[in-house]
Amino acid sequence: MTGDDLSRPPAHGSTGSASSGAGPRAAIVGAGLSGSLLALFLARRGYRVEVYEHRDDPRLSKDEGDGRSINLGLSARGIRALRRAGLLGELWPHTVPMRGRMIHSPSGELTFQPYGTADHEILYSIRRGVLNALLIEHADALDGVTFFYGLRCVDLDADTGTLTLSDTISGETRRVEADLVVGADGAFSAVRRLMQRGRSADLHQEFLEWGYKELTIPPAPDGGPRTPIEALHLWPAHRALIVAHPNTDNSLTCTLFLPHEGEPSFASLGSGAEAERFFRSRFPDTLRLIPGLAEEFEANPVGRLVSVRTSAWHAGERVVLVGDACHAVYPFYGQGMNASFEDCLVLDECLARHPADRGAALREYQDLRRPHTDVLAELSKENFLELRDGLRSPARLLRARADLMLNRIFPRGWQPLYTMISHTSMPYGEALHRARRQNALLGAAAGVLSAGTALGAAAAVLHLRRRAAGPARRTG
Ligand SMILES: Cc1cc2nc3c(=O)[nH]c(=O)nc-3n(C[C@H](O)[C@H](O)[C@H](O)COP(=O)(O)OP(=O)(O)OC[C@H]3O[C@@H](n4cnc5c(N)ncnc54)[C@H](O)[C@@H]3O)c2cc1C
Repeated sequence: MTGDDLSRPPAHGSTGSASSGAGPRAAIVGAGLSGSLLALFLARRGYRVEVYEHRDDPRLSKDEGDGRSINLGLSARGIRALRRAGLLGELWPHTVPMRGRMIHSPSGELTFQPYGTADHEILYSIRRGVLNALLIEHADALDGVTFFYGLRCVDLDADTGTLTLSDTISGETRRVEADLVVGADGAFSAVRRLMQRGRSADLHQEFLEWGYKELTIPPAPDGGPRTPIEALHLWPAHRALIVAHPNTDNSLTCTLFLPHEGEPSFASLGSGAEAERFFRSRFPDTLRLIPGLAEEFEANPVGRLVSVRTSAWHAGERVVLVGDACHAVYPFYGQGMNASFEDCLVLDECLARHPADRGAALREYQDLRRPHTDVLAELSKENFLELRDGLRSPARLLRARADLMLNRIFPRGWQPLYTMISHTSMPYGEALHRARRQNALLGAAAGVLSAGTALGAAAAVLHLRRRAAGPARRTG
């Protein structure tokens, strides 16, 4: 370990102006979605910010990373944070609105389910790379923000806020001291592991037995879309699910979710030809939509899905976690990034409320966020089961229709859970609590209705029996 100070230029891939001024120094590990947005918020709060990323500058590479999803669904919480950061205007042209779910049946029939009853209740599809580049661009343009690439966090002293970074090319290490170290380094966060070393902290990590693979629906030969574009497309099936997000060039990016093992699974579909046979039997209309299915299936990696919850989001006043580093969730509620952006907003608000006591700010941030992201983890898991098993079930459809109808009649008083999670910024736990109350009411109402129906039916039976018995008595 050389222990160099990072005031000298980084080994490679750095952009931006050197940190200057007299504000506190923040070192963010990870220039992904939450790290780059938080850099922007912290700089505006007067911090000199350095962001350390072990990959190359995403603006220079077309590589989307380690098989992570290419597009993301942006919803109300993420939009709110990006609006606060002043980025929305520039973002919109890169998004495609998704007004609801388009469900594909095995016979090729399409059923559209709107996301909500109000016009604004829609999601927006955006490419991860475009969003990440835009966030970095804006943060990088601020005075006092510097991005360093090709540097991996390998050690941390949480008491002094000292990071050790290793150059991914030369292997050289250097140390950086900061007033605030932020772990924005994703689900397998090194900062989390190093911060919790020797401290009492619960860590719950769960891998889903399903993985995912990206496939592409290209635009039609005339440049138009091959399937209605302004929707999130879903192909539910037994032990398989495809989700497709639209892109601005009329293509759609599909994510195929399958179990890792068993029949069918990524293990059992050994070749592109087998995948094609499988798609023909389960999702016949996709053969027309995904012309490069066999080649892409063979070429693209299988991604893993992990859910992480942890009890310690900060260490004293020096280290804090944001985004997937403190709450990775399965992607089935489309909330991972949205919740991560919400973290950045809430952390910024807490720092504003406690300008002279960072320890109190970090404590409040953890107290405000953790109970709710724990709920999100549960909801994301439940939504996986619903998407997997019940999307086309008549009971689910009936329930969804009842929810939307009640929402139309009582727009303020009745909101489906999905609406509260995706189209509002109501804390996740509160949304769940309210949905449970509504469910109880609906259950009670159904009970009364069915009791009423049963009474009515009993009366009708009695009446019919009397009528049937009447003439018999008369003739008898
Ligand atoms: C298939 C799939 C679909 C998804 N769809 C959605 C969706 O529709 N909507 C939604 O809201 N969310 C979605 N998500 C979740 C979303 O991708 C994540 O929640 C989001 O990327 C979290 O951002 P982050 O910045 O915390 O972490 P990341 O995006 O993982 O960024 C972490 C960064 O840290 C860097 N890094 C890691 N370790 C180190 C180290 N030791 N040193 C230096 N740098 C390091 C990484 O290179 C990376 O750039 C989806 C996820 C998946 C897997």
